[in-house]
Amino acid sequence: CGVFGVVGVADAANFVALGLHALQHRGQEAGGIVSHDATLGFNSARRFGYVRDNFTKASLMETLPGPIAIGHVRYSTSGSKGPTQIRDVQPFFGEFSMGGAAIAHNGNITNANALRRELIERGSIFQSSSDSECIIHLMARSLQQNIPERMKDALRRVEGAFSVVAMTRTKLIGVRDPLGVRPLVLGRVGEGWALSSETCALDIIGAEFVREIEPGEMVVITEKGVESYQPFDRKPSRFCIFEHVYFSRPDSILGGRSVYETREAIGRGLARESAVDADLVCPVPDSGTPAAIGFALESGIPFGMGIVRNQYMGRTFIEPTEQIRNMGVRLKLNVNRALIRGKRVVLVDDSVVRGTTSRKIKDMILDAGAKEVHFRIASPPTAWPCFYGVDTPERDKLLAAQMTEDEMCAHLGVDSLRFISLDGLYKAVGEAGGRDPAAPRYCDACFSGEYPVKPSDMIERGFAL
Ligand code: 5GP
Ligand code: SF4
Ligand code: MG
Repeated sequence: CGVFGVVGVADAANFVALGLHALQHRGQEAGGIVSHDATLGFNSARRFGYVRDNFTKASLMETLPGPIAIGHVRYSTSGSKGPTQIRDVQPFFGEFSMGGAAIAHNGNITNANALRRELIERGSIFQSSSDSECIIHLMARSLQQNIPERMKDALRRVEGAFSVVAMTRTKLIGVRDPLGVRPLVLGRVGEGWALSSETCALDIIGAEFVREIEPGEMVVITEKGVESYQPFDRKPSRFCIFEHVYFSRPDSILGGRSVYETREAIGRGLARESAVDADLVCPVPDSGTPAAIGFALESGIPFGMGIVRNQYMGRTFIEPTEQIRNMGVRLKLNVNRALIRGKRVVLVDDSVVRGTTSRKIKDMILDAGAKEVHFRIASPPTAWPCFYGVDTPERDKLLAAQMTEDEMCAHLGVDSLRFISLDGLYKAVGEAGGRDPAAPRYCDACFSGEYPVKPSDMIERGFAL
């Protein structure tokens, strides 16, 4: 998911809508905005679908006045059951004795089942099926006298990954979990301030990137300035390494590094680790493109757009009939036949999850007359599900959990298949010595199976580590 908030500018909701539009890659199912205005109080709008189809309408934006607003774009992750309902769309709102507060959460709470059971037994009335709603109810039960203190109380009981953007009538609040699994950055916009999942959303509103919110840090921002707190016990940080590989936009800055440059470095590393004699390096667009550029630069093999993506095919496209559904990736990707014919092609993609994309693309490339197809993947084999806010299927649906690399190669029907090593990935994100097995600097659980936060809810449901 993506979160964004602004304080200290006129019509803050318009800035939030733009910010959410720039974060749309982090969630396409639904979006919501809450604003506060001195005379009209809190207002909210939550809608299915893209930001650009909802929060551009003057008739809707006029209902969200005021100098402070937060928003959320949603995609549902492993904890959720069934399709998104409008009641699951954030931000969530709560009215407390000292006033209202709204919260938007990116991540996944790993002890949400236990918390929900306890809260319901003690009288909380849940409105949604979302793990994030626990935060509001925990805040309601806190005895603290102001909302930031209630948030601290609530978040100390929450386990897992959370980057939270919240607001009161006058305060914009940002918090990252102690390990800092999900990103959150601070920006300056005119006389006001912005919080965002990624820096690319600061750029769109002309905000200046100030700094990242630190792992375990809470900031409370008013028009007067930014106060910083450390509500949690200090721990070494474990940022999600997959943000660098896939999730974040290539024009964002993470941990002081350009995501684009990191991806290019992964491609270069991949070319060094797994060289191959070939005529053409082709990305699987768009997610594989920067790594493919790196692979081509390092190997000296020419780069070409052998696959072209239809930019108008949204991720939430509703596939109406069986006939159209069966066309699968063809709806989104097409082979550039003239370029592919007779060539030995290296295909570079960011990850293999179920393997369905790779298999279909290989068929299309061979149909177009390629002589050989070699897959190079810009992440290690995804053998474990993510429980911290990235949507991966259950373990038995992950190709790499079922097969060795050689078996995957045979299953996909390609001439060769290689993944970047975990050490190679760490080097590409700037760890010169590779991954320190005693104290890894990142979360890499989907590749290593080493979960930095115990996935309690999933263990309760029978998941075996
Ligand atoms: P597969 O077909 O192997 O299941 O999926 C691999 C493709 O899914 C890759 O091209 C990758 O770009 C994309 N992908 C990887 N992780 C995610 C994710 O969390 N969400 C979505 N929507 N796509 C993903
Ligand atoms: Fe990121 Fe993978 Fe960790 Fe999930 S398990 S937070 S995707 S590194
Ligand atoms: Mg892709």
